[in-house]
Amino acid sequence: MKINLSKQVFIFSIICGTIFTILMMSILWSSLTVELAFKRENYAQRVDNHTNTLKQLMISGDIYAIDYNDNNWLYWHNKLSTLLKIPPKLTAAQQTIQNSIKSQNDNVRHLYDQIALSRKNPIKPSVKNHFKVRLMTQLESIRSDSVQLSSIVKKDIHQVIKQQVIVIILTFVLCFLIVFVGGVKLSRIFTLSLKEVKKAFEANHSGNFQKIKLSHQTVEFDSIVKAFNAMNHKLSETTISLEEMKKVVEEKTKNLQQLSDTDPLTKVANRRALFERGSMELSRAVRGKKQLTLLLLDCDLFKNINDEYGHLFGDAVLKHLCTICSEAIRDIDFLARYGGEEFVVILPDCDIDGGVDIANRIQQLLANYVIEKDAKPVKITLSIGISSLTSNHKNFEDLINDADKAMYMAKERGRNRVEIAAQTSLH
Ligand code: GH3
Ligand code: MG
Ligand code: MG
Repeated sequence: MKINLSKQVFIFSIICGTIFTILMMSILWSSLTVELAFKRENYAQRVDNHTNTLKQLMISGDIYAIDYNDNNWLYWHNKLSTLLKIPPKLTAAQQTIQNSIKSQNDNVRHLYDQIALSRKNPIKPSVKNHFKVRLMTQLESIRSDSVQLSSIVKKDIHQVIKQQVIVIILTFVLCFLIVFVGGVKLSRIFTLSLKEVKKAFEANHSGNFQKIKLSHQTVEFDSIVKAFNAMNHKLSETTISLEEMKKVVEEKTKNLQQLSDTDPLTKVANRRALFERGSMELSRAVRGKKQLTLLLLDCDLFKNINDEYGHLFGDAVLKHLCTICSEAIRDIDFLARYGGEEFVVILPDCDIDGGVDIANRIQQLLANYVIEKDAKPVKITLSIGISSLTSNHKNFEDLINDADKAMYMAKERGRNRVEIAAQTSLH
């Protein structure tokens, strides 16, 4: 069953408060009861003392003497009478004894008055003695009643203390049990619910925006869980994981790399990529003592093509050239646009002869696959300069310069031909 936690805490606090009040009240009630028991004992003690004083006053002198100290006797008797008028609250059994004491005290007064009267009127000594003995007997019986009252009260004190101790212990145990059970139940609800929330936060930390299951234990935690799940739903829609982010960044970086390395018109590698790859291939060749050959291709009289057929057609020719070159070269070779209508092909593990073969293949393919403009074939030719790595080449630029020189030689020698750079020594 789903509970309202704040209501539960409120009820629990009220119960704790009530229990505490009951405990305090029972302690107060017990102390009052014990105090009353002590008051009763004190009362019985005082009755006994007063009665004993009256008895001593009788024994110490002649009660029939004319100079007998009446005032003293009456003073003590009045004290006893006053005490008997205001007894503490008594039990039924104690009240019976109290009534008996009271009526006997009335008799004492009555007998004393008789004795006081007989002092003036001479009476028989036997009658005198009779009154005196009766007075003494009455006082004795008051004393014995007060002793009885005192002993009952003492017994009551023990019983009352025992009863009150049991009441306090039982109340305390009951209070403890209620507080303990309530506390354990509430802390269990808190612990379970907080554990679920903690688990969910940990899952979120690792990028897993999962839903927390409703525990249906408390209204409050269910509302927290609902809010958390709604937040997670939003987060899962708007947040991507680190892995996904890496993939996106990698893809974007690859695209950017490709863009920065690619010539936008012909889609082959650009000049930047050419020098990067060229330097790398040169180092590899030097390191592995391998051959490295380079072709530099320049379109013959390309200005005329542009002038005659337009710049856009010129662009198409450049694309066509790249397609031809890509078909002619090997997989390990590398074609790049050097600039304008000039292209470079890097041929790793290839000597001059291999380079001449590939250059001839390009020119052959170019002759075979003629590009047309308005259904008329347009003749395109290339001047190709070839250079091969030697110990004279300090860097990739040196190799290109040699190929460039060879290409100009081809131009000078009539174009549409392949020329090899002068080689000082072989690598
Ligand atoms: P040569 O045989 O001596 O090389 O003669 P050429 O006309 O080809 O002379 P040159 O190499 O100096 O001229 C290159 C021309 O290529 C000049 C320029 O307008 C043209 N060109 C360069 N880049 C492009 C391009 O991207 N598209 C087009 N359509 N033309 C270009
Ligand atoms: Mg040129
Ligand atoms: Mg040219």
